Amino acid sequence: MAADYISRRAHGVDASGIRKVFDLAAKMKDPINLSIGLPDFDVPDRVKDAAVAAIRAGSNRYTQTQGIAPLRDKLRASLSAEMGRDVGEVLITSGVSGGLLLAMMAVIDPGDEAIFLDPYFVMYKHLLTMTGGKPVIVNSYPDFRFHPERVERAITPKTKLLILNSPSNPTGVVMTEAEVAAAVDVAARHDLLLLSDEIYEPFLYDAPRGLPSAARLYDKTIILRGFSKSHAMTGWRVGYAAGPEAVIAEMTKLQQYTFVCAPSPLQYAAVAALEVPMDAAVAAYRRKRDIVYSRLSGKFEVVKPQGAFYIFPKAPPGGTANEFVARAIEKNVLVIPGNVFSESDTHFRISYAATDEKLEQGCEVLCSLA
Ligand code: PMP
Repeated sequence: MAADYISRRAHGVDASGIRKVFDLAAKMKDPINLSIGLPDFDVPDRVKDAAVAAIRAGSNRYTQTQGIAPLRDKLRASLSAEMGRDVGEVLITSGVSGGLLLAMMAVIDPGDEAIFLDPYFVMYKHLLTMTGGKPVIVNSYPDFRFHPERVERAITPKTKLLILNSPSNPTGVVMTEAEVAAAVDVAARHDLLLLSDEIYEPFLYDAPRGLPSAARLYDKTIILRGFSKSHAMTGWRVGYAAGPEAVIAEMTKLQQYTFVCAPSPLQYAAVAALEVPMDAAVAAYRRKRDIVYSRLSGKFEVVKPQGAFYIFPKAPPGGTANEFVARAIEKNVLVIPGNVFSESDTHFRISYAATDEKLEQGCEVLCSLA
């Protein structure tokens, strides 16, 4: 049997939660789909034009492993200005997913432990399993805030990495400056590397001073950002990593033998994307955040999100979140049960990157079920 050839590594990854959602979605006809983790606008025209121009101009070959200089230089300058120090070399990756895999391959030895908060972005757990590391998952319910004492309790001599994700998928919570400082304090005292997944950085609704990033305070921070969410380029696979030179150098070496480089013409398009202001999109999502939060907060126990485009309410008492989501799906509203992002089956994720009309309809159905 061909199945006999499958590795323990592949068997170690359990993707049943997400698959169940896909199976359910496949059965629905024209659903009110509040499940999708991508912007509802298209790539800005200027960025599309730059991609086409790059293809026509012949930028269709491999680039340097680390990415094209104009993009890396601009990102290094802007990140350094933001963080108040030179962030060092920048590596252009195949999406933030590519950066996550390379970072874990570069630093995780079998048995090494990496800590992250529950609820979490699904990939962290599986990438750690794939790279032989041990996910150590710290509960952040019910407020989804960073509680340093809980994280401290989870640290062992094997802990190597602390993963932060702010703004968070799936909760939309943004870490405060004090929380970031507390995370850095824990990391510094235990000599941990920090991995800061900041893919939702442009989508901040209540932070006039910008994203509090651990990279401002702690030079052992790997920053991961990308263009998938900021410019709706999810299918173009362009992200970037900046951090300690030794780590970025190893990630670059590993990219050489895996992804080779990020897509060449789309790196040129990313240079153009840096010039395109996305304030209108952010303002639209702020308004959508306000709509969803005001509709749901009367009926559900829910934390107000301050970023990204997700909200993570608690399912009504008397059943699991999966049961509640099944009822929503019967009414043609697709949301994702929280246990896809969590060890608990108590909450559900709504993506409010949808039209106002679909959002209003979806909220009405969900409230009627609560
Ligand atoms: N990190 C988080 C928190 C995400 O939500 C996502 C996408 N859903 C990614 C990383 C990966 O994004 P990409 O590979 O498209 O850049």
